[in-house]
Parts: sequence; structure tokens; C-alpha cells
Amino acid sequence: KDVADRIAAGEVILRPASVVKELLENSIDAHATQIEVSLLDGGLKTIKFRDNGDGIHPDDLTLLCERFATSKLTKYEDLLSLGTFGFRGEALASISFVSHLTVITMREKSDFAYQAYFENGQLVPSEKLGTANPKKCSGVKGTTFIVEDLFYNCPLRKKSLNSSKEEYRFIIDLLMKYSVRYPSVSFSCRRLENTKFDFFTPCVESELSSIGNVYGKEVTEELIEVASSTTSWSLHGYVTNANFSLRRSQFIFFVNGRLIEWQSLKRAISSLYSSLLPKGGYPFIYIDVVIDPRLIDVNVHPAKRQIYFMDEDNIVQTLLRSIEAKLKISVSS
Ligand code: ADP
Ligand code: MG
Repeated sequence: KDVADRIAAGEVILRPASVVKELLENSIDAHATQIEVSLLDGGLKTIKFRDNGDGIHPDDLTLLCERFATSKLTKYEDLLSLGTFGFRGEALASISFVSHLTVITMREKSDFAYQAYFENGQLVPSEKLGTANPKKCSGVKGTTFIVEDLFYNCPLRKKSLNSSKEEYRFIIDLLMKYSVRYPSVSFSCRRLENTKFDFFTPCVESELSSIGNVYGKEVTEELIEVASSTTSWSLHGYVTNANFSLRRSQFIFFVNGRLIEWQSLKRAISSLYSSLLPKGGYPFIYIDVVIDPRLIDVNVHPAKRQIYFMDEDNIVQTLLRSIEAKLKISVSS
């Protein structure tokens, strides 16, 4: 059974950045406005992740890493109209199957924080640990996750990872993208051994100022706003105009608040730009889609990076037309 669970976990957690992505989504669901990531060895040795969100009720700690333990789904209809990101209760379980996981959490108006240590989906028994588990400790409001020795029990997965420098880079890249979508959340990332941040964004007013902080003011100066909607979805975003090129393309797609890969849209936009731009060129593209949850299935891919759309062609075509119209204006002016 453990082996099966570990294999299932390996479908959700592919690398340190997948841990961070799951934790990020949970923190945002828990109304965090401040998220701090510190890493040892690009997260391969330690991922320390802190948020200032709602915290977890001590009674919920026992089952926290049980598969399908979720506080976000109470009845089947919820599955169809879910506003939050996660809802399958699989992320923390998966993380606990492939690492050593410590959770320290404190809710508002509570006198204590609680620390709990998990392995293989379960709280490690106090007798085995030699200390109470969970145990009371001091703390501040919010939740800290310490994920150690990722893939210690999956040597093949561990071997397939890139260097810690590259894994670190994936995490920064993820934080950059989330900070665009969540300008009111402050994100930071540093090496655990350093006090200096390698990445930091303050809370700002708008996606545009966030793009400026993270990707550079020269990018924001070249952006065109796009927006369109129907009764079942709406999207808005920013794309670079036709005279501007990055050194490599940057695609940021969010659907209902969650970062996703959207290969078909990526390809369509890339070919639109190369057909419009004489010299070719690498655009910056940020698109945020809000869609009736009944029209998407986020469960096709376990890591939720790919989703299935009922209305995908329609969305892609509408968006392309609206980008094209604006780009033509910018080319001719
Ligand atoms: P899901 O997000 O699908 O519900 P997870 O395994 O990601 O499942 O998380 C399990 C549960 O743990 C969540 O439903 C939530 O109640 C709680 N939780 C996880 N992370 C946090 C956090 N940072 N702050 C508060 N509660 C959290
Ligand atoms: Mg989750």
C-alpha cells in the first residue's frame, strides 16, 4: 500500500517546485498576504515555507495528511462550483509520502501554535517520536511547512531532477508568476543559509505594477491590455506589442486563480506573433481566465497543471482575434 501511495504521490509531486506550488495554492486559499520560502539545496534538502494565513485548527492536524482530507469540499455540488484551488486533499498527503514533513500552525486568537510531524500520510506516533505529536509551542499566526529530504524514498525520481541551482530557478520562476496574479500578496525567496532575499515582491496595487517589479519596467511600457468575455467565461491580461521582443518568450496563464500550462494557447500565440512580426520575436504574455468551473475539469492531470476545457477553441480563437486586432494597431501606428 505504501508503494502505491508513493507512486500516486510521485504523480503530484514531481520536483521541489511542485511542493511549493501546492503550498502556495493552499496559502492563498487560507487568505495569506505574506509568503516566505527558504530553501536548502534548491529545495532538495529543505523547503521551509511560511504563510500568515488562517492557520489550521489543532483538531484537524491528525487527519491533515490523510489522502482526500480536505476542508474545501463538503458536498458534490461543491465540486462543480469550487472557487478554491485545491479540493482533492491530495497535496499534503502526497508531500508526506515522499519527504519528512513538519507543520507548525497557529490560528488567530489562539494561545499556542501546534507543531506536528508526518510520514506516509500519518502523524508519527508520539511513542515513536519520543515527544508529543502534535505538540504545543509558541508561534505567530499562520502556517509553516518544513519539507525535508524530498524523494528520500524515491531514488529514481531523485536522480531525474536537475541541479539544485536549476531547481531553485524553477521555484523563483513560479513565485514570479504567482506574484503577477496576486499583487496583494508579498512573496519572498532566499537560501536558508542566507538572510538576503534572492526574490522579493512587496504588496502592490495592480498586476501591472507587479509585472513591472518582477519582469522590469521596460516590459510594462510595451504592454497592451486585452480583455473579452462571454456569459460563461471572461479573461483579461497584458501582452507585449509588436515592436518589442524579450530574449525568450514568457507565458503566464492563470485559470480560476491557478497557474496552468496551456500548450495549445502557447502555440497559437507564438505563431500569431511570428506571422505579425517581421523579425519574429519573443512576447511577454499574461492571461487570466475566470471560467464557470463546470466547464473545466482540473482533474485530468494529477498535478493540475493541465486542465480540460469544454469551450477551449472558442476561448483560444476569441483571445487570438483580440490580440491580433490590437497588435495590428500597434504595428501600423
Ligand atoms: P486541498 O487543498 O485539496 O484541500 P491539501 O492536501 O492541499 O488539500 O490540504 C489539505 C487541507 O489542509 C486543506 O483543505 C486545508 O484545510 C488545510 N491547509 C493546508 N494548507 C494550509 C495553510 N497554509 N493554511 C491553512 N490551512 C491549510
Ligand atoms: Mg491544496
